[in-house]
Amino acid sequence: MSPDIGTILKDSFGFPGFRGVQEQVVSRVMAGLRTLAIMPTGAGKSLCYQLPAIALPGCCVVVSPLIALMHDQLRAANAVGIRAASLTSVDADWRETQDRFRAGDLDLLYVAPERASGEGFRAFLRSAPLSLFAIDEAHCVSEWGHDFRPDYRLLRPLLDEFADVPRLALTATADAHTREDILVQLGIPHEGMIVAGFDRPNIRYTVQPRDSLSRQIADLVAAQPGPGIIYAQTRAATEKMAASLATGRREARAYHAGLPPETRAANQAAFIASEDMIMVATVAFGMGIDKPDVRFVAHAGLPKSIEGYYQESGRAGRDGDPAEAFLFWGADDFARARQRMFEVEAARQPGERARITALGALVETGACRRAILLRHFGENPPPSCGNCDNCLNPPASIDATETARKYLSA
Ligand code: ADP
Ligand code: MG
Repeated sequence: MSPDIGTILKDSFGFPGFRGVQEQVVSRVMAGLRTLAIMPTGAGKSLCYQLPAIALPGCCVVVSPLIALMHDQLRAANAVGIRAASLTSVDADWRETQDRFRAGDLDLLYVAPERASGEGFRAFLRSAPLSLFAIDEAHCVSEWGHDFRPDYRLLRPLLDEFADVPRLALTATADAHTREDILVQLGIPHEGMIVAGFDRPNIRYTVQPRDSLSRQIADLVAAQPGPGIIYAQTRAATEKMAASLATGRREARAYHAGLPPETRAANQAAFIASEDMIMVATVAFGMGIDKPDVRFVAHAGLPKSIEGYYQESGRAGRDGDPAEAFLFWGADDFARARQRMFEVEAARQPGERARITALGALVETGACRRAILLRHFGENPPPSCGNCDNCLNPPASIDATETARKYLSA
């Protein structure tokens, strides 16, 4: 580690050291090597491009899929003294930002993928030196991935036009197929892939078939005094469940994209400040939210993918203290998922099918849940974790035979 890197880490970010693979990623980037960093949410991906952005001459262009996410990061970056700005549809100060870029007065420039790929923007980028391209949420480039954004496909010509500028792709969520796709689509060599550990040992995983959801949720909430998030399947369900859970002693609120922005902001702020509140939300809730003491996350129905499940359940226990992840599923969830699979374009159906199969393996297994999750992310975990429902209470062997009987008689 060169001394100036360590100094920047301490002086600009206030961190005593790197965490996990950050140092490895930053070293590669500083050496100008193309890199794909696969790191779980909360592992500190932003630092991997922000630090080189400060250390290297020129401006770092950050491609990010969501304006809200960009603005959160922008605020955080400016707060630690990084010279950062964005060029998005909601920014009023384009001229000023462009002038700052040309004057070499920016470390970071955040842009959306569709903007970045435009010819006018490419010409603009030629007007000052670049230090790095950082492609955040890089799984969006893959049709196989769970969040495909066609605009990400337009990035390649831009990257290749600036072939000498290092490129760093970052994602928290990529199965083997998606990883391969990111490398190919963004022109990153295999040896440039760095994968951080995904295990969250303090989270206890429990998966149960849904029999009486309201009773199951009520039992869970009664046993869990700390703050918790319940992911419901629909907007209406979040409001209904929040209303039924809210009691005199304990607050429960709803969060979904259909609520007025003021309500969403107020509910989110209340949750972050609370020590016992329950947030009943759609998956619109949680991205970019930093609340370390969430004690449980429950899914009232099947998540969209293992990646989604890992990310959403991973919002529990960021402080490292014991936390729980519950998943309640029903056969009808799988029926709906299969239905949706046939509604997407043909090219995306294999990915959808693989996602459903992987979720089936997670919920139906009589073996270690954690092992299934970690293997999905390419790790090679021990067969038993000691901290999931199946490891703590090994099911009798009826599971396999029952499933087999079901299929045989069908
Ligand atoms: P990600 O994008 O991987 O989800 P972030 O970049 O948002 O993660 O970082 C998550 C949190 O970790 C932030 O609060 C950040 O300040 C903190 N963090 C990042 N790197 C370090 C480090 N080396 N030491 C301590 N905290 C860190
Ligand atoms: Mg991030």
